[in-house]
Amino acid sequence: MPELAFLNGNIMPIEEARVPVEDRGYQFGDAVYEYVAGYKGRLFALEQHLDRLEHSLRALDFPIVSRDQVRRAVIETFKQSGIERAGVYLQISRGVAPRNHAFPAHSQPQIVVTVRHAHETPPEHLQKGIRVVTVTDIRWGRCDIKTVQLLANVLAKQKALESGVEDAIFISNEGVVREGTASNLFIRCADHLLTHPATPQILAGITRSVLIEICGEQGIQVHQQFFDRNTLLSADEVFLTGTSTEVLPVIAIDGRKIADGQPGPTTLNLRRELEKRANQNDV
Ligand code: PMP
Repeated sequence: MPELAFLNGNIMPIEEARVPVEDRGYQFGDAVYEYVAGYKGRLFALEQHLDRLEHSLRALDFPIVSRDQVRRAVIETFKQSGIERAGVYLQISRGVAPRNHAFPAHSQPQIVVTVRHAHETPPEHLQKGIRVVTVTDIRWGRCDIKTVQLLANVLAKQKALESGVEDAIFISNEGVVREGTASNLFIRCADHLLTHPATPQILAGITRSVLIEICGEQGIQVHQQFFDRNTLLSADEVFLTGTSTEVLPVIAIDGRKIADGQPGPTTLNLRRELEKRANQNDV
């Protein structure tokens, strides 16, 4: 099955797609993105991703981009690829213009879609859980906008790998536990879950909101509130959520075991429920 790119109206093999060097995404990080998962030839939660994309575009005062046009580009590239279990990446930059910080007077947003085989989580990470380190959150104050400016996330992930663990969790200067490098974070304390509220300091994940919905149906209380590192370390369960992460158990943080160091029952149950939903979706 071919891995494809959509570039301003044309679909081509991914390695043939080129963007101009004066694309503002390339020079200023002036671009937003979404990452949507395909399961069994269908895209999961596409409309929620398009809602968040509109939020990002509006927050950055982008020129109008047609939601229908973006939806068609995503679906058409995904269908043409024939890849059933896909990772669909969508990026929209403010456009191509001579380098100047100010917005160009006339620029056409550049739309790029790529479709690749999804990165499946290694089975041992699912079975045994992952270990993480905590890092200081040095990101800007608008993490609710899904921009391509991901250098703090890149450095945090790299630090985790160089420390011999799988991922990192951001903690603010004031000690508030935020989220993972490409995922949201939940903890279980006795009979309820805690997760960071949807403020500008985190990205409000689509998976996070699906999980909160599932918990509602299952009678599991989720409190969206701030909590600190001590609360995190003394939790009964910790897990990450995201489009590519799905639900991933965390069993050690900064070298300290969480509970008995095994993936917990609530985590595993929620992972199964999410999997069910992902496999019975619409587009
Ligand atoms: N937070 C960050 C920083 C992310 O990069 C992601 C993944 N895009 C998430 C949370 C999870 O969001 P979603 O569930 O929509 O993939």
